[in-house]
Amino acid sequence: MKVLEDYENIINNRLINQIKARAKKLDGKKVLHINSNNKDGGVAEILHSLVPLMNNLNIDTEWKVIGGPENFFMITKKFHNSLQGEEIDMSKINKKLYVKNNQDFSTTIEVDYDYVIVHDPQPLPLIKFFKKEQPWIWRCHVDLSNPNKQVWSYLKGFIKEYNCMIISKKGYKTDGIKLAKRIFYPAIDPLSEKNKELPEKKVNAYLKKFGVEKNKPIITQVSRFDKWKDPLGVIKVFEKIREKEKCQLILMGSFATDDPEAVKIYEEVKKRVKKSRHEKDIKIIRGGKNVMYDNDLAVNAIQSASDVIIQKSLKEGFGLIVSEALYKKTPVVASDVGGISLQVVNGVNGFLHEPNDINGFSKSVMKLLKNEKLRREFGKKGKEHIIENFLITRLLLNYLDLLNSLTKVN
Ligand code: UDP
Repeated sequence: MKVLEDYENIINNRLINQIKARAKKLDGKKVLHINSNNKDGGVAEILHSLVPLMNNLNIDTEWKVIGGPENFFMITKKFHNSLQGEEIDMSKINKKLYVKNNQDFSTTIEVDYDYVIVHDPQPLPLIKFFKKEQPWIWRCHVDLSNPNKQVWSYLKGFIKEYNCMIISKKGYKTDGIKLAKRIFYPAIDPLSEKNKELPEKKVNAYLKKFGVEKNKPIITQVSRFDKWKDPLGVIKVFEKIREKEKCQLILMGSFATDDPEAVKIYEEVKKRVKKSRHEKDIKIIRGGKNVMYDNDLAVNAIQSASDVIIQKSLKEGFGLIVSEALYKKTPVVASDVGGISLQVVNGVNGFLHEPNDINGFSKSVMKLLKNEKLRREFGKKGKEHIIENFLITRLLLNYLDLLNSLTKVN
């Protein structure tokens, strides 16, 4: 198990000392994190590092996951989609089921914690079923640049019960919410299996396993199968590039258990690839925690071996995947949306485009493919940018600061 001192070679001592000082004040306190998925996606990725680190600092930290029937997750995915701007007909939403599933889950939790941190809309109504003898924090990970008004007004009824709300970016809209707000950038763990430096032999072994050719440039998008990640758009970009350059595309993706739309998107992607003139140069790799190989090492190997990473999201709360790639010195060509714009500095460590600018995307990828020096320069700057801003130690410090600032309410 990792301890804070393990990070000494990557981050400066000042940050380590700050973390220790904040943690000391929380010694023995009990913290509960709740989300809806402990396997796939960015939130699970963060909690897998954050929770053990908090425990190592003697903060007694637990992590619970709300489950439920598929209908529950259909509703919460609709909320997710409309928080990211899609239309929703609230009269058709089974609000009773949403709330009742939370009520049922609440009976499995004995809240003798000093702090409760609830992630995203799935467990949001939980707060209604407790006496609230401690601060409750709602951490929203979605892209709130243009939330649908109807869904916001409904969810607001739950949000306002909390003591504090955390979002990922300045400018995200939280209309009508009066409680304290914080901006925390999600963060990657440089020591995790997914991000630690891999020996070349290991990287090559994974490429071989997936049938990736070493002598052709590799363009990759790694993302859950989700329409917001626009995998079909990535194929379009690739086809344009492939008309001019010999190269290959990897689409590596996982299915999140709390996303009932994933299988449909996966099937669409497979069908589209079959129709492509360049089918032979496109590899779809199933990732996620349920595969037979080590997903994290596989993601690591692919991100490290790729010449360019694409992240063509239409909306993106943050997009940890971008930090993961940049930390491995792989330049990123991505959509200028949500949290991506915090990580990719246009023309410095990658290129940003409007999400539907297929031409812009393909030109930028080609520019990088043709220029090894530029890739190396972007890679170096990318890694520096991530170390400075988006490592788990900084996020840990933010959480400790926040918990210290919230006093116990009775
Ligand atoms: N991921 C993975 N295997 C896959 C696809 C994605 O492990 O096949 C991971 C990825 O490495 C990252 C997380 O899922 O850690 C995605 O987080 P991000 O914030 O980019 O997007 P989210 O899925 O939360 O929308």
